[in-house]
Amino acid sequence: MSTPSKRFPVAAPSLTEREERFLIDAVRSGWVSSIGPYVERFERDVAALCEVPHCVAVTNGTDALIVTLKALGLGPGDEVVVPAHTFAAVSASVLHVGATPVLADVHPEHWCIDPRAVERALTPRTRAIIAVHSYGHPAPMGPLLDLAKQRGLKLVEDCAEAHGARYEGKVVGSLGDAGCFSFYGNKIVTCGEGGAVVSKDAELSRHVRYLKDHAQDAGTHYVHSEAGYNCRMTNLQAALGCAQLERFSELAARKRALLGWYQELAGPLPLTWNPKLPWAEPAVWLVSAVLDEALAKSRPAILKSLREQGVETRPFFVCLAELKPYAGCRQVGAGGEADVPVARSLGRRGFNLPSGVELTRDDVAVITAALRRSLEASA
Ligand SMILES: *Cc1c(COP(=O)(O)O)cnc(C)c1O
Repeated sequence: MSTPSKRFPVAAPSLTEREERFLIDAVRSGWVSSIGPYVERFERDVAALCEVPHCVAVTNGTDALIVTLKALGLGPGDEVVVPAHTFAAVSASVLHVGATPVLADVHPEHWCIDPRAVERALTPRTRAIIAVHSYGHPAPMGPLLDLAKQRGLKLVEDCAEAHGARYEGKVVGSLGDAGCFSFYGNKIVTCGEGGAVVSKDAELSRHVRYLKDHAQDAGTHYVHSEAGYNCRMTNLQAALGCAQLERFSELAARKRALLGWYQELAGPLPLTWNPKLPWAEPAVWLVSAVLDEALAKSRPAILKSLREQGVETRPFFVCLAELKPYAGCRQVGAGGEADVPVARSLGRRGFNLPSGVELTRDDVAVITAALRRSLEASA
């Protein structure tokens, strides 16, 4: 096999002269900590993207979840239903506020939390649901909102992987009680590190803003009526984020084009690409592929072969039920069984391919040729 001339990483941020200019401007202004014009502008821009009135910028997506759960009053004795297939920051945030995660299975067609499993998971102690818009696809918000309303539950959206995605025409982050964002280096929009909490609820937003800045009472010095956090975003992070948001349409469109090239150039293969249900306008975060069941055991060999051809990949999230901190959590499947078979299966069969917006159609032709070779070798 010839040595590859080029390596393709899974993710790489797209940074231009615009990001550089905004960042230099922030440095020269002297506003490098968490007070500054870019932070205020970033909050306005994220609120506008989400079509909601309120946004609080924070340090990262995990802190966004933690302060949101805290502001919603969740703590010991409360159960929070989370998808069994997602990034562990979701379930960790529930543990960090002292509440109990309950793992609901995901849906085989869109990979997001399955409302049938959520319904079966509810007990008198359930207080909230975290709906993660996984791998860019919106969660089925209609049925989840119905359940939340009927049962008096809070519904938090995790939009980290789905900036700008829409459910039945409504943008993610605008549907639940609050929407939590991450702007980590591999997300669609990045601040380097960063996060935000968006909401329609002025009081919830005020509480998040209070908690993220040490919970110091307004107009006082050193009077704290609650135990606060420090998860303030800096003006430097926000400067980068403002530049990225000016390019949002471009970044989102290039990611969508990228997925289209993969689907077109790969031809028929024994795998499923990123889903798109009729009610969804997904964002493209990573280009994702789920191997057919017959190939599940070959995933390590396929990924190794891709790596040898210069194509880096990332396996899907390990099912939360298979991770030490969550192995003891209650698991609930779509039929009410004490298991999460879809999440386990996706965790074994899925992987992400190079997804940076700088990739060209020619790059994707090289990558998909490598993918075909790796799959044929494992067939
Ligand atoms: C990335 C991610 C997070 C965490 O974001 P950080 O900014 O890395 O803390 C949370 N939830 C989901 C679903 C994510 O993909």
